[in-house]
Amino acid sequence: MILPLLPALLLSIVTPAAASDWALAIHGGAGVIERKDFSAADDAAVRADLGKALDAGAAILEAGGSTTDAVLAAVTVLETSPWFNAAVGATFTSAGTVELDAAIMEGASLRAGAVAGVSTTLSPITLARTLMDKGPHLFLAGPAADGYARANSLTQVPNSHFHTDRRFRQLELWRKTAAADVPLSHRMGTVGAVARDRAGNLAAGTSTGGLTGKAPGRIGDAPLIGAGTLADNRCGTVSTTGTGEIFIRARVASQICDRARFAGQPLQKAADEVLAEVKTLGGSGGLIVLGPKGDGMFLLNSLGMHRGRASAGGLREIKIYGDE
Ligand code: ASP
Repeated sequence: MILPLLPALLLSIVTPAAASDWALAIHGGAGVIERKDFSAADDAAVRADLGKALDAGAAILEAGGSTTDAVLAAVTVLETSPWFNAAVGATFTSAGTVELDAAIMEGASLRAGAVAGVSTTLSPITLARTLMDKGPHLFLAGPAADGYARANSLTQVPNSHFHTDRRFRQLELWRKTAAADVPLSHRMGTVGAVARDRAGNLAAGTSTGGLTGKAPGRIGDAPLIGAGTLADNRCGTVSTTGTGEIFIRARVASQICDRARFAGQPLQKAADEVLAEVKTLGGSGGLIVLGPKGDGMFLLNSLGMHRGRASAGGLREIKIYGDE
């Protein structure tokens, strides 16, 4: 498979927040996201759904709620939007089905829940949260994960509930051309949120359909703790989006956190260097990071990332393209 050679674009934005402030960042996936592909109406619809997710999480944090609840609320909204590659609007596998991965983690307790290959559970991130809270395991996959959801009274839907025409057209394009001719950067997406609450606790959540044309059973970085999702109050919280296999090999989230924790690197520098490593390995994508003090940033090395951030004091930003 030929990996995309994307123009290098590394964008970093850092906003330190007061120690007692809450902060929230969300993403709706990275990849080749260019103005020419979005009508004004589509652009507005994407921004509106990002805004709803941001506001859902921000309302919980503003009211003094927990960081995990805020992450769950934001990701759940993104899962219901057809614009993003998670639950409704997810990419198709090569078999024409949808298989969903998700994870959530809490930075104070280091508790986590993760699921992969889910196909009938309405909200994979809610399933990951349920697993985190109720156990006894941390990670479940396939029909057993959906079975666990059923046993815990989580809403089940037919797999077709997640299907959209837009993603089906992407699958058809992928099927027509050799897989290698459709760059991964045109086949991906994911949603995620990272948050810090007023008490200083961090959390991360990520939910994805993976890549258009992925083999049934393929699992990406999103549900892997330390690759696509991580929260650790000692160093930061990370949710990624991009070429999953490379993000796994680069151990993106844990490498960023460990560089900050053990080598004393500022998070910004750590994240920049790890994303540069992803690029060297032939990958592309982006991530959102928050530090223990609520310092918030987006980073991407692809041509765009649906993203937003909010914090106590009124910051509310939503962006799509790499040059915004
Ligand atoms: N990282 C996801 C995966 O490989 C896809 C994406 O974020 O674009 O499953």
